[in-house]
Amino acid sequence: MEVEGSEHVHRTGIWRPIWSSSRSRWLQACPRRYILQYVAGRGGRVAHDKPRRWLWRQGRWAPPHELMLRAVRDTLRKWMFEAHAGVLWTLPTARDMMEDEFSRTLESQNIEMGRLQKRLQRSRSLHHTPSEDVIEKILQQGNLILRRAYNHPLLGELLKCGFHGEWQPLDPFTTTKTASGTAYLTPDLIIKGPQRWVLIRLSTNAWKVEPDDVGIVESAGMLLWAINEPTLPVKAEEYEIARISHTEMGWRTWRIPAHQRMLEDARVLIKADINAARQLIIKAGPDLDIDIVPLSEKEWRCRTCGYRFNCPGGSNLHRAKTQQMASEIAMQTASA
Ligand code: SF4
Repeated sequence: MEVEGSEHVHRTGIWRPIWSSSRSRWLQACPRRYILQYVAGRGGRVAHDKPRRWLWRQGRWAPPHELMLRAVRDTLRKWMFEAHAGVLWTLPTARDMMEDEFSRTLESQNIEMGRLQKRLQRSRSLHHTPSEDVIEKILQQGNLILRRAYNHPLLGELLKCGFHGEWQPLDPFTTTKTASGTAYLTPDLIIKGPQRWVLIRLSTNAWKVEPDDVGIVESAGMLLWAINEPTLPVKAEEYEIARISHTEMGWRTWRIPAHQRMLEDARVLIKADINAARQLIIKAGPDLDIDIVPLSEKEWRCRTCGYRFNCPGGSNLHRAKTQQMASEIAMQTASA
């Protein structure tokens, strides 16, 4: 069992890819960002090597609204664990925790950006602190999401210590060993239903209630966690997979019965991603030549990317891609 951010630290010093749904998405969306955060920044916040730690933190940069969603998610997790232990929180307790966490992460992110500005020797500030009004509005949204969770038929019952069935909140930052490698697959919650176990992923930031095709396969990864657990059934058919996500309309549930084919699909996805990550590293070479790693496909991704200040894609993606292509052609011509 490993903690998020420490996953690439191995006694041998060899980098091994770890699968998670966000890594999977970044691998496709921007291989450069994947390499910067998960390979060059390996070891994460606990890396002894300062540049690695900086890179990891830089990759964690997020706009204030996203920081609020992370704070809500973390608060809900802590709240669930307390409720499961029989400790009853009030809504104001949860709200205070969310607001504290939001303020702390916003401040530490601003400090990090100040340090980055010095390292890059930029005269202009790399961040601007949102005004009190903007922060107030963001926090109001966070409070609304918590209030809606409190009033949700299932989440509310769990949070109010009123659920009488068998359930368990889990830490999604623990890893699972699969045949292809290590992966983050642990659900946020497991509940024993009348017929099946329900594996639930909580999401504070969903575009829509139903996940896309890849999202369904990612959710099926929870099955791999479940069948590895000694106290749980080994057959996929004994589970349902579910996502309870917060959308503009409030908390909504998507759930489907699981079957063996989903397990296979999840295994195939994880294997393909881990192989693609290895190929990317081989392409970058032993010195991790970041300049030859492909940039983002879409410009909008660069707008909120923590590496946009020192990645050429961040200032002009189109120009950066053209230059990268030109140097690839020049290298091919030179070696022909
Ligand atoms: S700035 Fe754009 S191209 Fe560069 S790492 Fe970020 S998303 Fe990728």
